[in-house]
Amino acid sequence: MAGAPDPVELVRRARAGEQLAVARLISMVENAGGRLREVSAALAPHTGRAHVVGLTGSPGVGKSTSTSALVTELRARGRRVGVLAVDPSSPFSGGALLGDRVRMGEHTGDDGVFIRSMATRGHLGGLSWATPQALRVLDAAGCDVILVETVGVGQSEVEVVGLADSTVVLLAPGMGDGVQAAKAGILEIGDVFVVNKADRDGARRTVRELRNMLHLRDAGPDDWRPPVLSTVAARAEGIDGLADTLDEHLTWSEKSGERDRRRRERVRREIEAIGMEQVRSRMEQLRGGAVLDALTGRVLAGRLDPWAAADELLERSG
Ligand code: GDP
Repeated sequence: MAGAPDPVELVRRARAGEQLAVARLISMVENAGGRLREVSAALAPHTGRAHVVGLTGSPGVGKSTSTSALVTELRARGRRVGVLAVDPSSPFSGGALLGDRVRMGEHTGDDGVFIRSMATRGHLGGLSWATPQALRVLDAAGCDVILVETVGVGQSEVEVVGLADSTVVLLAPGMGDGVQAAKAGILEIGDVFVVNKADRDGARRTVRELRNMLHLRDAGPDDWRPPVLSTVAARAEGIDGLADTLDEHLTWSEKSGERDRRRRERVRREIEAIGMEQVRSRMEQLRGGAVLDALTGRVLAGRLDPWAAADELLERSG
């Protein structure tokens, strides 16, 4: 983009708390434009501090409501908060999506809150590639806590959220309950379970069911035992308890080494995803080119097998 500010300057402004700079940086990483590398390099020294909290659950359980209530609670505790709402089903992105307006309206004008939506459908390399970049921006901007909310229940979303420092799985009574959660594989990734809409019938039963299911898991004396909390997010009830539990989980995961383990895994996947993307784009550039033509000729003539040809192609593209 002509006249786009220097990434280093943008990062400096983001760190000073400038909302516009944060939004700009996220757009830059999301659009994978020409300055992506510069942005990434400028962010690198300032990352690795934020507590990344993933929130997942079926549509309608109250993720947005809970996220908003949690933001209020964390702000009351003096934390700087980032919110990244990831929508894998929509090709659109930017501030207008998802009702940043509706659900987060109450946080408008609070310069300690950064809210951003991301659409990942059709994104090169998908969510695994794009989300960590946006997390880095919010982290570098000085967020103490980053809430990553997924608006979908696809496997890759569950995986990404599962790599957060702490993962919250939300359920609601009468929405298929715990059995559904077990099927979707989210019992494994939850560090904290929340039965929201506790003002509705059946909430206690859902809590009981979940506790029973979780008790079936093997756990050593030093392991984290995922608690099952109840909330009425619409009235902000139980949200302080959720914030306390997230603090406890962070403390445990730092002590036990779990946080390090997850962070390593996150970075490893990030590097892999970028690597895959680079190989893909190099191959694309070679398509129809002279090198590929020559290799094709040799394979056709029986002088080279296609595997050896592919090796050569990769070597030459490096
Ligand atoms: P999401 O799709 O998971 O993000 O769910 P939303 O946060 O958009 O909430 C879905 C609906 O449930 C909205 O109409 C909320 O007002 C409502 N809701 C959220 N929390 C509660 C709650 O604790 N009790 C009740 N009764 N309704 C709630």
